[in-house]
Amino acid sequence: MASRIPLVAGNWKMNFDHREATYFVQKLAWLLRDARFDYHACEVALMPSFTSLRSVQVLVEADRLKIRYGAQAVSVTTQGAFTGDVSADMLAALGCTYVIVGHSERRKYHPEDDANIVDQVRAVLAAGMKPILCVGESFEERRQGIELDFAVGQVHDVTRDLSSDQAAELVIAYEPVWAIGTGMVATPQSAQEAAQAIRADLAATFDEDVAERVRILYGGSVTSKNAVELIGEPDVDGFLIGGAALDPDELSLIARLT
Ligand code: PEP
Repeated sequence: MASRIPLVAGNWKMNFDHREATYFVQKLAWLLRDARFDYHACEVALMPSFTSLRSVQVLVEADRLKIRYGAQAVSVTTQGAFTGDVSADMLAALGCTYVIVGHSERRKYHPEDDANIVDQVRAVLAAGMKPILCVGESFEERRQGIELDFAVGQVHDVTRDLSSDQAAELVIAYEPVWAIGTGMVATPQSAQEAAQAIRADLAATFDEDVAERVRILYGGSVTSKNAVELIGEPDVDGFLIGGAALDPDELSLIARLT
């Protein structure tokens, strides 16, 4: 996996208020406190709700925790009359490292099309954070055998509008929609095939250097039971985790195994 540092990112979705988030972060930091866990060898990040970000920031700063954090969505505009929206600069001011962009649940429940997703990526990059761009096929595309073209196409729709420097900052999460929250996990071979195809497309669009720098995560029903096999694949650089990220014991175990 060359020099890419693996990333284990927990997507809490709409779970945990700020008190529960604080407790979780304290417990996770305690579970990972010993010398056998090296944050330089595996990055750990949490994606709480907007309402918990300030509490997480205060705790991380006060206790000098090495856990990183980020947001689950962002506005494409910088400020103004956009009721309910949160700008990238606001997230950066809260110390966010990452912002999830294009998660399948956002694509499904919100008006987030390809153009909007490109704008979100640009907004995140302009504010100095890293987008975690989610792509992945539905069951129907897999049934048709077009899953690789579909996932690569989703990546390409975003990257074709970026410079090499911008593309190199991306984290890409390959998340087959049929695997999210279902208990059905992609085989390691299939996760590798998708990650490899995405990396090949990055090399063709930009160059080998960009392709080698971008971390490609797998997401979809990851647990401590399947993480080891998945991370054994050369192009899988970590995980975006939903359900299993709601349990600090499980998340810390996955981070140790990654
Ligand atoms: C997700 O929502 O990004 C996800 C991967 O969820 P889960 O791990 O629960 O499948």
